[in-house]
Amino acid sequence: MLKQQMYASLGISEKVFQFGEEIEGTLKERFADIDACAEYNQLKVISAMQENKVSEACLYGTTGYGYNDMGRDTLEKVYASTFHTEDALVRPQIACGTHALAVALAANLRPGDELLSPVGKPYDTLEEVIGIRPSRGSLAEYGVTYRQVELKEDGSFDYDAIRAAITEKTKMAEIQRSKGYLTRPTFSVEQIGELIRFLKSIKPDIICMVDNCYGEFVEEIEPSDVGADLVVGSLIKNPGGGLAPIGGYIAGKKDLIENCACRLLSPGLGKEVGASLQVNKDFYQGFFLAPTVVAGALKGAIFAANIYEKLGFKVVPNATESRHDIIQAVEFGTPEGVIAFCKGIQAAAPVDSFVTPEPWAMPGYDSDVIMAAGAFVQGSSIELSADGPIKPPYAVYFQGGLTWQHAKLGILMSLQRLYEVGLVTL
Ligand SMILES: *Cc1c(COP(=O)(O)O)cnc(C)c1O
Repeated sequence: MLKQQMYASLGISEKVFQFGEEIEGTLKERFADIDACAEYNQLKVISAMQENKVSEACLYGTTGYGYNDMGRDTLEKVYASTFHTEDALVRPQIACGTHALAVALAANLRPGDELLSPVGKPYDTLEEVIGIRPSRGSLAEYGVTYRQVELKEDGSFDYDAIRAAITEKTKMAEIQRSKGYLTRPTFSVEQIGELIRFLKSIKPDIICMVDNCYGEFVEEIEPSDVGADLVVGSLIKNPGGGLAPIGGYIAGKKDLIENCACRLLSPGLGKEVGASLQVNKDFYQGFFLAPTVVAGALKGAIFAANIYEKLGFKVVPNATESRHDIIQAVEFGTPEGVIAFCKGIQAAAPVDSFVTPEPWAMPGYDSDVIMAAGAFVQGSSIELSADGPIKPPYAVYFQGGLTWQHAKLGILMSLQRLYEVGLVTL
């Protein structure tokens, strides 16, 4: 069989290949559900592009101030149509997801206001944005206070504590959809909607912002469909479809987006300036591809969960539960397991496959970390990538894969490495 020969030539032994085929064979129904969701989301994006009359001229960029940048302005309408929001800000001047979130927060909070996280600790990089860890330029330095309500033991919302935490100062709530690197579950869009309805029942004018990183197109609806006033994410994750070389987006209520534009660019300038340079075509094409790219990444995550659960490892989410983001964690329980897994992911990459990742001390981490990435866009985590802190429980977090076929190869290669060093028996 040609396919198996090709796998063999890449270093996948027959045992590993067969094990993978067996697992894949059990996933037909789940893959069909993912394809159905991608089909719906593909139509949603095409419809948004048609509705806003995307033309060839939109694919060209501007320079300098970027006045009358038709491609940029139309793309923002396409995002707004897709997310069913009044407006959107989609810019290469937004450097990453953290920057997009920082802009959305700083733009809509004023001295004396309080920010509430009703879902426990936010993503690591936001600790310095908010000032949970003292930091230059944090919201805390500008007199914005912060309050956090922990989730209940079982990962559900603590409604009583949330009610008690809302005061006349509470201006904004930050709701992180994905678990990120925490052990809590990722929230479904429906759960987020429930939380937003609760927050608004107590304080109708509270601004609900959802950190939508890793969640876009995983479901047929987005948090903006269930009451979020702002949704925020990175273009080198899901919505960039692997093609966006940089960027972030904020979609939501018109006046809140205008605040964001004035904060990102300058008061008085707002959305009018900000040249798109040469990125428009990639932003459009990436957004067009994003639903199927996300589907490939999801299939990879589910494939890995099933492979490693079958081999006796703890996987989060588990092999059968429903998905609300593209992240997969596997607990190996040993440093050797984490290292072998990451080496396999690296060896399967289209770029830098010959590089051997090693654990290393990284700023912001309290242990050595090993990272595997062979990406076309630096740090892109919609491309197949993995990282694992070398500390108990010795878990790797991995995500992405621009195609299901590449995700599959990466996971088989990881299994191959674990098999070769005797950490699994097949
Ligand atoms: C990735 C991520 C961020 C930050 O995005 P960067 O592009 O890494 O700055 C914020 N929140 C969540 C949940 C994320 O996954």
